Amino acid sequence: MKLIFLGPPGAGKGTLAAKAVDILNLPHISTGAIFRSAMAAATPLGLKVKAIVESGKLVDDATTIELVKERLAQDDTKKGYILDGFPRTIPQAQALAKFSSVDKVVNFELPDSAVLERLGGRRVCRKCGHNFHMIFDKPKKENVCDHCGGEVYTRDDDRPEAIEKRLEVYRAQTAPLIEFYRGKGLLVDVDARPAVDKVVENFKRSLGM
Ligand code: AMP
Repeated sequence: MKLIFLGPPGAGKGTLAAKAVDILNLPHISTGAIFRSAMAAATPLGLKVKAIVESGKLVDDATTIELVKERLAQDDTKKGYILDGFPRTIPQAQALAKFSSVDKVVNFELPDSAVLERLGGRRVCRKCGHNFHMIFDKPKKENVCDHCGGEVYTRDDDRPEAIEKRLEVYRAQTAPLIEFYRGKGLLVDVDARPAVDKVVENFKRSLGM
C-alpha cells in the first residue's frame, strides 16, 4: 500500500507514521527526517538546506523531488511506503504522480490552536528521532530519551517564530493538496485531535482495517 500522510505541522504525522509502520510493515519515508539527518551529518545536502529548514520555510521543489525520487527507487518501497511530509506543494504532487502511483492520502485534521499548543511543547530525540511533549508525554529523565538515551532537544523550527512561519507556509502551499487529492478520489480525513491510540484507531478504520 502506498500512502501519503498529509496535515499541518504538529498533527502527529511522524508519531502516527511510526505506529503505522508497525501495523502495515511498510518503510516510513519522512523528508523532514532525511533533511535533519543530512544537516546533523553536515553532508552537502544538509549544508544546502540547513538555513531554510531552520527558518520554517520549504526546501525548493527540485531538490526535494529528486531526493524522494531516489528514495522511492530503492527496493524496500516495492510493496509500498508511508510518505510523511511529502508532497508539500502542488508541483511536488504532480512530479510524484509521474514516478509513483498512490493508493490513499490520509489527511490528519487539527485546528490551529492545537497546532500551536503541540509544537510549542514538542521535544525530539537527536539520536532516534522519537517525539516527546513537555505537557503530554515528558521524557522520564529531563532531556534524555527513554528509548535510546539520546539527547532530547527543541527543533529550531519548533521555536515560536518558525512555528508561525510553518503554519503560514502550510496554509499557502500545502493545504491546497487536500482538494487536489480529494478531486482524485484518494483522500481520507482523520480527526487528529484525540490521543494517539484513538487517532490510530480512526486511521485504521479510514483504511477499512
Ligand atoms: P517536517 O519534519 O516534515 O516538519 O519537515 C521539517 C522541515 O523540512 C520543513 O519545515 C521544511 O523546511 C523541510 N521539508 C520537509 N519536507 C519538505 C518538502 N516536501 N518540501 C520542502 N521542504 C520540506
